[in-house]
Amino acid sequence: MDLFEHQGKELFARYGLPVPSGEVALSPSEAVAAATRLGLPVVVKAQVHTGGRGKAGGVKLAGDLDAVRGHASDILSLDISGHIVRRLWIEQASDIAEEYYASFTLDRSARKHLGMLSVEGGVEIETVAARDPEAIARIHIDPVDGLSRQACRQWVQAARIPEAVAEAVAGVLETLYRAYVDADADLVEVNPLIVTSADEVVLLDSKITLDGNSTFRHDDYASYDATQTRDEREQAAHAKGLQYVGLDGSVGVIANGAGLAMSTVDVVNQVGGRPANFLDIGGGANAEVMSNALEVINNDPAVRSILINIFGGITRGEEIANGIIEATGRVEIDSPIVIRLDGTNAAEGRELLEPHLSDALRMEPTMLDAARRAVELAGAGPGQDLP
Ligand code: GDP
Ligand code: MN
Repeated sequence: MDLFEHQGKELFARYGLPVPSGEVALSPSEAVAAATRLGLPVVVKAQVHTGGRGKAGGVKLAGDLDAVRGHASDILSLDISGHIVRRLWIEQASDIAEEYYASFTLDRSARKHLGMLSVEGGVEIETVAARDPEAIARIHIDPVDGLSRQACRQWVQAARIPEAVAEAVAGVLETLYRAYVDADADLVEVNPLIVTSADEVVLLDSKITLDGNSTFRHDDYASYDATQTRDEREQAAHAKGLQYVGLDGSVGVIANGAGLAMSTVDVVNQVGGRPANFLDIGGGANAEVMSNALEVINNDPAVRSILINIFGGITRGEEIANGIIEATGRVEIDSPIVIRLDGTNAAEGRELLEPHLSDALRMEPTMLDAARRAVELAGAGPGQDLP
């Protein structure tokens, strides 16, 4: 789960980390009111779950209230890599002398945490890594031993952080690591970590990804979850407890198991179609779950055909077939359905489906055949770029 920048900064502030004061604003007049309380100049910042806001025009400096109002109305409803801005963070402007980069993430192959620090901040770390890998000082942190102040000092030295701010940066890193561990984060990235002209170290941006598996031990996760941006389809699917991700094609996809669902999305692409979504109905594909899945997909106006790809494991073929039959009885479906049913008791399942087959409900023997059929039925149209 991704946090907004301001949620990350509020988390940092609870650890005493230096962040600029700011306020959330949802409209230009709220932005003006916030700027009045904070004092000018301020920076008006788009709050979206994606980076590159600066380049996209989502970060603007305002020296007076007219500029605050103007920037706020420009940035609200701006589309940044497909994320529509609905929320702003109004923040006291900082006087930037240097921009550094700092992050903690999990290095699964090393079974350790990985810290990265660079004096070349403010640009994407991938760019720095490609241009000058030596400019990034990395350390692996054993989760049991943790990260000492002494280790931070050596790390800061390896990154060639200037003497004048070395101790302050080491202190920030030590505390930032504690915040990262306490929050059960998969990623905490501060880019830029700045030095002001008065040699103060300030965390000017935040990107935090929390591990959803640790929700049960964090009361604040529910409030973060409430602010997740989902499109209408994703909201409906989430409310029904489905693992759904909206995509922009015309072939609705239902599969059991995340791996199979992803493969199905790939195969639809491979045969020249465009998937409308990723949807994993999990292990127990009963009628209830299948109806919910079909309903969510059926409500997507871009969908022209539906591909149900099931490989029975613990769940047997006849249960799945009954689920599909019952679900198509419950929900009126506008698009033709193509089923691929394999795995445990597939023969029994197919036999049950046989009498229900029609132009609206078809069955194909393999995943590839089913994908081809579904793509053909979706036809060419918007969201459908045939090669
Ligand atoms: P991102 O583009 O989504 O990573 O957004 P950032 O929060 O990192 O902001 C992008 C850039 O805007 C930063 O690297 C800074 O150069 C600039 N910026 C952000 N806040 C301020 C500020 O308070 N004062 C000044 N002068 N520049 C800022
Ligand atoms: Mn940034």
